Amino acid sequence: MNEMDSEKRGEIMLADYHIHLENGPFTLDWLERFIKRTDELGIEEIGVAEHFYRFVEARSCLYNDHIAPRQTQHLEEYLELMVRAQQKGWPVRIGLEVDYIPGKEAAIERALKELPLDFVIGSVHWLGDWCFDSDPASWEGRDLAAVYHDYYITLAQAVESKLFDILGHPGNIAYFGHRAAPDAMRRAEDTWLTRIKGKNICIEVNTGGLLRQARAHFPRLELLRRICDAGFDITLASDAHWPEDVGHGFTETHRLLLQMGFKHTCRFHQRQRKLQSL
Ligand SMILES: [Zn+2]
Ligand SMILES: [Zn+2]
Repeated sequence: MNEMDSEKRGEIMLADYHIHLENGPFTLDWLERFIKRTDELGIEEIGVAEHFYRFVEARSCLYNDHIAPRQTQHLEEYLELMVRAQQKGWPVRIGLEVDYIPGKEAAIERALKELPLDFVIGSVHWLGDWCFDSDPASWEGRDLAAVYHDYYITLAQAVESKLFDILGHPGNIAYFGHRAAPDAMRRAEDTWLTRIKGKNICIEVNTGGLLRQARAHFPRLELLRRICDAGFDITLASDAHWPEDVGHGFTETHRLLLQMGFKHTCRFHQRQRKLQSL
């Protein structure tokens, strides 16, 4: 197959499994702007994954002074919109991005029970009471090796919780570009990979970091290669918060994934995983 054919095939078959509507209203008009962008790019399906913490229904799972002013949305409104979009035949899947907080496993399980979801992404944005991707000034004076160690331990616990279909953006600890020394980073990643070996979780390849100060995929490519060698399934995700960012970096990333040896990505329907050839 020549390059043009494979390019075309790739564009047709890709899905973007991490989109946020939170900068607009829960209306079909706003959602349609994201769909239009996928049409332009030839992306076949999108998975919307609103931040669970934004909903009042998430209060038992995550609530603090930082969250309080943002925890104002109602889950019913979001789910109704998404179900209507599916009924119209729009290529959308219903998801949530849920913060993994150690000790909150039972609360998360209860809160998600019986929701009409296609997939749940588990993400780590908090280490204790520190939200590490909201304010670069909060990084001042931190021991980066210790931060990376804590982050990857928490990321392993998120997988071990078995609460999630997809593990969101591993390595987003580099969000603002802070990186531990190479050997410390590698040690932290090794610990994580060893702990999650053989676990039934799909790992997200998030291109959103390319637009952030990290200027890198989450996971970074070196780690992604090892995730491939370990045989994990993946999703491809832009983490777009605006229609124009849907599918950002997908063409190049698709090529990288094929080069690394990935054969397929995953899609989800009612929390069942389905493999899709790359
Ligand atoms: Zn996230
Ligand atoms: Zn996100």
